[in-house]
Amino acid sequence: MAKEIVIEVNNLTKYFPVTRGLFRRKKIADVKAVDGVSFAIHSGETLGLVGESGCGKTTLGKCMLQLHRPTSGEVIFEGNDLCQLADKELQPFRQRLQVIFQDPYDSLNPRFTAMDIIGEPLHIHNIAKGKEYRERVAELLRLVGLAPYMADRYPHEFSGGQRQRLGVARALALQPRFIVCDEPLSALDVSIQAQILNLLDDLQEKFGVAYLFISHDLSVVRHISDRVAVMYLGKIVELSDRDEIYKNPLHPYTQALLSAVPIPDPEVEMKRQIIVLKGEVPSPMNPPSGCVFHPRCYRAFADCPKVTPLLEDVGNGHHVACLLYKQSCP
Ligand code: SF4
Repeated sequence: MAKEIVIEVNNLTKYFPVTRGLFRRKKIADVKAVDGVSFAIHSGETLGLVGESGCGKTTLGKCMLQLHRPTSGEVIFEGNDLCQLADKELQPFRQRLQVIFQDPYDSLNPRFTAMDIIGEPLHIHNIAKGKEYRERVAELLRLVGLAPYMADRYPHEFSGGQRQRLGVARALALQPRFIVCDEPLSALDVSIQAQILNLLDDLQEKFGVAYLFISHDLSVVRHISDRVAVMYLGKIVELSDRDEIYKNPLHPYTQALLSAVPIPDPEVEMKRQIIVLKGEVPSPMNPPSGCVFHPRCYRAFADCPKVTPLLEDVGNGHHVACLLYKQSCP
């Protein structure tokens, strides 16, 4: 049976205006951080989102949670387009939409105890008080592998991995249906990363929560994701099942990214050919015409600067935005 869609994004854009003049009133351009993105995430599913720094991954995650208000498009959650709701109307949905931040050192208030940090969402949404509140915090601490007696400690008394566990416990406090995990491992030692990955896996199995897992680390994304989306200059250029995309990457950008991932087999590693991309990522203020990847693409041809490829299914749910593959609108 097909799994229920938890959250759906349709043609989402987020443009940040660039202004100048005395009062910064004159708009001179837009930074196209997210540019026409569409996909859906199902219950209990992890969609990995990969791409170079500055490609729009974090902005996309924030737009889905309405932490940034999108410029246009839809974010459908529980039958409502969140983009159309006023801040007050969004409040009840915020309980079920959560985020785990990149840096556990920065995302926890140093003056709050673990009890305050984890219990803050319970307070804000008026969910539990007194004994029930303390019991709920203790239960959340146990759930993420911490002991309830740690509830009175401050963030500096925890290790990096434990702090990220606090971040996970806080995100789980309101029993969310969808969590944006924004590079949740990048500030942690490798030995701790595996523990947090396993914790996220276990919690997903237990509660059926859906994740958007943002990372620039393709090995981590391979481990945790069911499907993977590759983002370049604000657009999704490839989206497919995890195994399919790692075995058979179709977009030249995905091929280049995967070619740089080390393989733990000396023989295969010897034969590995790294595709080196030309130049830098262009400015999202002035993206290239046609296929935005064409100035760096090693397979570009005459049509690429003229025609914008659509993200289309080339079979078995493998979507790619490249003119080398069948396009319904040439
Ligand atoms: Fe490369 Fe052209 Fe495909 Fe873009 S459309 S990825 S430039 S081959």
